[in-house]
Amino acid sequence: MKELLRHFTFRQLEILDAVARHGNHGRAAEALSITQPTVSIQLKKLSETLGHPLFERIGRQLVLTEVGEKTLHAGREMFAIMEQLDTDVGELRELKRGVLRLGIVTTADYFMPQLLRPFCEDYPGVEVRLEVTNRDRLLSRLNDNLDDLYVFGQDPEAPDVVHFPLARNPLVVIGPTDHRLAGQTKVSLEELATESFISREPGSGTRRVLTRLFGHYGLTPQIRMELASTEAIKQAVAAGLGLSVLSRHTLIGEENRLAILDVQRFPLERLWHIAHRHGRRLNVIAEAFLAHCRTFETAKLIGLPD
Ligand code: PGA
Repeated sequence: MKELLRHFTFRQLEILDAVARHGNHGRAAEALSITQPTVSIQLKKLSETLGHPLFERIGRQLVLTEVGEKTLHAGREMFAIMEQLDTDVGELRELKRGVLRLGIVTTADYFMPQLLRPFCEDYPGVEVRLEVTNRDRLLSRLNDNLDDLYVFGQDPEAPDVVHFPLARNPLVVIGPTDHRLAGQTKVSLEELATESFISREPGSGTRRVLTRLFGHYGLTPQIRMELASTEAIKQAVAAGLGLSVLSRHTLIGEENRLAILDVQRFPLERLWHIAHRHGRRLNVIAEAFLAHCRTFETAKLIGLPD
């Protein structure tokens, strides 16, 4: 072990991380702004220090060996500890400097900038790293303890998680303004089930709600198109390709091209939640952001009066 500590470098672990992320030496070199031979030489040195190969080639793919996996995991933990140290030292100097790592569900990017703005003004030295992804991927980031705080479209329903409600998150059915159901009242779910739907990808929290609701009533939505982007869904709905279910917070300013349909059981009431892993030591910046979210008039900020 002492041998190992004397010989490896953080740079080598950084290179290992980049190759594991990008899947090949060329892209890793590009991401780190170094040459490809440097990547190969440093990985070779690290593998010699460990006495095991770090990757094996399966077909055209580079796959981590067990030793590679363990080294990568240890390296990532070391980086997290160093980042924490960096933040702590910053705090000690009262510089309020450091990194805030936030993970948010795709839908939350419609209000996150407004929520971040006053916070960033108060903490100009803080660098915000935002990961935007769907609910399932965010849950797995939370499970891997990769970020300080997470914003979900509803209770994360996961063990060992501390979470607080932020604001209402109603889900509505939308269609183009000239849709036959646009002027109708109390449209039944059975009638809705005869329509074509445009939905987010599997793993999306919004999609999960749609399929669960229909499933609860023995129905199946006819998903004709799948799009991973809310903006693309809105375009497709406006173009008359189908109906969709979206958070009302993604629809601000869309009244001219999208109609909210009056459907039984809708709006589906959910709550935005902010969460972190139980036992994760939040640094002062994450604590400050949490306090900011909990005191901030989030609902007003998001632009919905109720
Ligand atoms: P999504 O999650 O962006 O994965 O659909 C949002 C939500 O759960 O409301």
